[in-house]
Amino acid sequence: MKIIAIGRNYAEHTKELNNPIPVTPVIFMKPDTALLKDNKPFYHPEFSDNIQHEIEIVLKVSKEGKNINAKFASTYFEEIALGIDFTARDIQNRHKEKGLPWELSKSFDNSAPVSNFVPKAQFADLYNLNFKLDINNSTRQEGNTKDLLFSFEQIISFVSVYITLKKGDLIFTGTPQGVSKINIGDHLEGYLEDIKLLDFYIK
Ligand code: MG
Repeated sequence: MKIIAIGRNYAEHTKELNNPIPVTPVIFMKPDTALLKDNKPFYHPEFSDNIQHEIEIVLKVSKEGKNINAKFASTYFEEIALGIDFTARDIQNRHKEKGLPWELSKSFDNSAPVSNFVPKAQFADLYNLNFKLDINNSTRQEGNTKDLLFSFEQIISFVSVYITLKKGDLIFTGTPQGVSKINIGDHLEGYLEDIKLLDFYIK
């Protein structure tokens, strides 16, 4: 199982980090050891003073595919979830300044909490999905999939040119604006429409 993630896929978030709007999807990966399930607590590591939350919609790949045409890409995922792409922003900024890969800032252990999955069929329109992240009962991030720069189908098609997708792979599809630092003791709650899917603590 692999975790593929898309950066800079919502314009307002791209601007808040002073990055240019991409012309093709920005891809990075997290190892399977990044996965944190079942709303288990996230233990804040000591190597970063600025770990930031990025709430994202996550697709679960339902069958193997390579060179998938965007027209058929919707048949490659049946379930969606919410995830947090935890990012050590201090490490990322240092690496970006030097033109180095972001890997260390994105792929550390437990940097990818993922909720239970729900069937995509239960939503009338995948491109009008509200999702949000509350921390300590105040809303920090709110997004709607109508604002995606690259659609789920475009992401699947693009990635599969380079990387074979396998059943069970996860795709993080990008975060809306409002990213900020997490602190020990924080209570994170993530909602997809009115369904609470994420509910865990920073320890
Ligand atoms: Mg992200």
